Amino acid sequence: GFRMGIVGLPNVGKSTLFNALTKTAAAQAANFPFCTIEPNVGEVAVPDPRLEKLAGIAGSKQIIPTRITFVDIAGLVKGASKGEGLGNQFLANIREVDAIAHVLRCFEDGDVTHVEGRVDPLSDAEVIETELMIADMESIERRMANLTRKLKGGDKEAVAQERLLKQALAALETGKPARSVEVTEDDRKAWDMLQLLTAKPVLYVCNVAEDEAASGNEWSAKVAHMAAEQGAGHVVISARIEEEISQLDADEAQMFLGEMGLDEAGLDRLIRAGYDLLGLQTYFTVGPKEARAWTIRKGTLAPQAAAVIHGDFEKGFIRAETIAYDDYISGNGEAGAREAGKLRVEGKSYEVKDGDVLHFLFNA
Ligand code: GDP
Repeated sequence: GFRMGIVGLPNVGKSTLFNALTKTAAAQAANFPFCTIEPNVGEVAVPDPRLEKLAGIAGSKQIIPTRITFVDIAGLVKGASKGEGLGNQFLANIREVDAIAHVLRCFEDGDVTHVEGRVDPLSDAEVIETELMIADMESIERRMANLTRKLKGGDKEAVAQERLLKQALAALETGKPARSVEVTEDDRKAWDMLQLLTAKPVLYVCNVAEDEAASGNEWSAKVAHMAAEQGAGHVVISARIEEEISQLDADEAQMFLGEMGLDEAGLDRLIRAGYDLLGLQTYFTVGPKEARAWTIRKGTLAPQAAAVIHGDFEKGFIRAETIAYDDYISGNGEAGAREAGKLRVEGKSYEVKDGDVLHFLFNA
């Protein structure tokens, strides 16, 4: 599955947010740095109102949302790449995620220590980004050194790798993250294999005070501006509110949100923003037993989409009966959509669209 790493300086609200996301007390929030020592991993349902609609029409007994994994990664402080704080341990954790949710403290609270002694989300963002850039430069140097022998042997892959490493290094040396490098489709695989930390897409999460959750504040506005400049994602959230909401049942939560002037839980926005950032989309399988959502990358072809359900579906793939979500709804189900001529039979080269309701036929 897809994984998002939650990073940020100590005491910005990472654990609070993670707790709210996973509704567990596993990641204990506490008012001192380095509280979360092991990376905490939690699976979160991706909210999608379409799924309930489909289940309602088909009379599905069970609704199974698709999931995304969040990892609470502690230990990033100034000097982390040099072994400060939890040292280099966090680097490995970040390498393993597909995208980064970077939590920035945009709230004032004299009772909560700020490691740098002041609230300034833009500098905080820079502190973290700098550590990640230093770590990338070091790993590039190591990789370059390892390539020397292969390059002498004329290894084609090594030549391509060296070219990409040099491009990344050039960006980093001018103070830009690796994600600023434009990578061609042909180079994409080799580039991903470099596993550079600053190549991962970033979603800035502004943690604001409770009474500013709906409006945001001056700090979050600055972060929004920075995110736009970098082509990064951005959400405003109050981790404390989300933590409270996560303990309420659905009706209570809706009332509470109303009182706060919010029309939707921040976590739902966060999860969806992460989903978009990762370039993910959803398709559905719908029947009387269950209505289920599945996650694939945009551009995935039908057989590979089927593989998410089971490897055999890909191997023995014959065709996919396909109904677009809107057609399924207006036809009031599969039979109606079929009668209206909206059920398409798609083959191996079909690029699955967001919201497709699919039925795979395959050789067992
Ligand atoms: P982490 O070190 O980034 O994981 O931060 P925590 O989630 O452990 O939060 C550190 C402290 O800040 C805890 O005492 C939280 O209750 C508090 N905190 C988190 N979010 C907010 C917020 O939005 N407002 C205020 N006032 N305190 C918060």
